[in-house]
Amino acid sequence: MDSRAVALVRANFRAVVESPTGPQWLTNRFYGHMFGEDPNIRQLFPATMEMQRERFMDAMAYVMDCLDNPGPAVKFLEQLGRDHRKYGVEAGHYPVAGRALLSALRAYTGPAFWTDNIDVAWRQVIDMITTSLAAGAESDEFPAHWPATVVGHRRVLDDLAVIRLQSDTPVPYAAGQYVPIGIPQRPKMWRYLSPAIPSNQYGEIEFHVRKVRGGWVSPSIVNETQVGDRWMVGAPLGGLRVDHESGRDVLMISGGTGIAPLRAQLMEMGQRGVNPRVHLFLAGHSPCDLYDVHNMWQLSLSNPWLTVIPVCESETDPWWNSQPAPEPPPGMHHRLIGPIGEVVAGLGAWSDRQVQIAGAPAMINATRRALIAGGTPADQIQTDPV
Ligand SMILES: Cc1cc2nc3c(=O)[nH]c(=O)nc-3n(C[C@H](O)[C@H](O)[C@H](O)COP(=O)(O)OP(=O)(O)OC[C@H]3O[C@@H](n4cnc5c(N)ncnc54)[C@H](O)[C@@H]3O)c2cc1C
Repeated sequence: MDSRAVALVRANFRAVVESPTGPQWLTNRFYGHMFGEDPNIRQLFPATMEMQRERFMDAMAYVMDCLDNPGPAVKFLEQLGRDHRKYGVEAGHYPVAGRALLSALRAYTGPAFWTDNIDVAWRQVIDMITTSLAAGAESDEFPAHWPATVVGHRRVLDDLAVIRLQSDTPVPYAAGQYVPIGIPQRPKMWRYLSPAIPSNQYGEIEFHVRKVRGGWVSPSIVNETQVGDRWMVGAPLGGLRVDHESGRDVLMISGGTGIAPLRAQLMEMGQRGVNPRVHLFLAGHSPCDLYDVHNMWQLSLSNPWLTVIPVCESETDPWWNSQPAPEPPPGMHHRLIGPIGEVVAGLGAWSDRQVQIAGAPAMINATRRALIAGGTPADQIQTDPV
């Protein structure tokens, strides 16, 4: 696409996003058109579509960001096409989605502003989107999902559980990737979780799950999961990874359960002979949020390339927390206090590092901004989509 077409599409999409009612309007019209043209598609989605709408807009925003260099967007969309097979969405459904999107955008923009140039530019983008999604859906490298049995459920904090699963056959994810999860208590309500250990031949998987207040799925996982429950694990997504060829050392920053994808990579690196130096900042709001600090310390003892630094925003735990906060083990770096982004950026520009940030969306965004303001090049920072 030429830069003029890219600018037109971006400006048109920005007008939707910046309107308080734009995203809701566009997604209503998009799904309405799609389900109207093919009512069978509606059966594939859960009763509540709120999460789908948010994800749709997030995915579109990511594609808009990548239009100058669509390679990462194509990869992401192919993954999404593979991922949507868990709902039963097939390659043949994407042309319907493409027509629905074009129709929704045209209706939102209105005939006075929907020029031929915008029409042509959007058709190019939508063609790239639907072709990539269909290519992903048609790739038969993996099944749509793997069944797995819960073999352990440990409440490590009032609102956080470590869940261990045994899949019927190993799930071939790369350390650092995330997977969609379906649980029996919430049918069709898939949520992404990051395995906290590398994939292995025994099919063992570990997840760290924090209860989101008012959430549909995470409270059910933390409160109601039983040993013996059968979960579905969908095809892996995401590309957090350490580049061993770059010669760059690594900065990893985790907030809360964001430790999971970093931990999986560190454990895998522990099985390699030679590794770059890694600084892991293990962050949380309160000391109790550093529930994995002892495991990370143990890992650093046997892997001298790894340095673990605990960071908390608050020096004390909230009054309602009933689990004692783990003290950093003797010999470990003392706990630093402050917002994680400010703490890490205050220690240097980290401009020579490959950087990974994992955690809640607000933490990722704030930390990314702080690092860039402090001199870390934006293109060296990896995060999962938030
Ligand atoms: C790439 C990726 C990897 C993830 N890995 C993990 C993981 O390893 N462990 C884990 O516990 N969670 C992880 N999550 C978050 C998880 O997928 C769910 O979003 C989360 O568990 C909430 O689901 P829910 O159904 O309970 O809430 P929903 O019903 O989906 O949402 C309820 C409300 O909470 C808000 N919300 C959703 N998630 C968060 C959040 N994290 N922080 C604050 N508000 C939120 C929503 O916007 C909504 O308003 C990951 C998410 C992504 C995108």
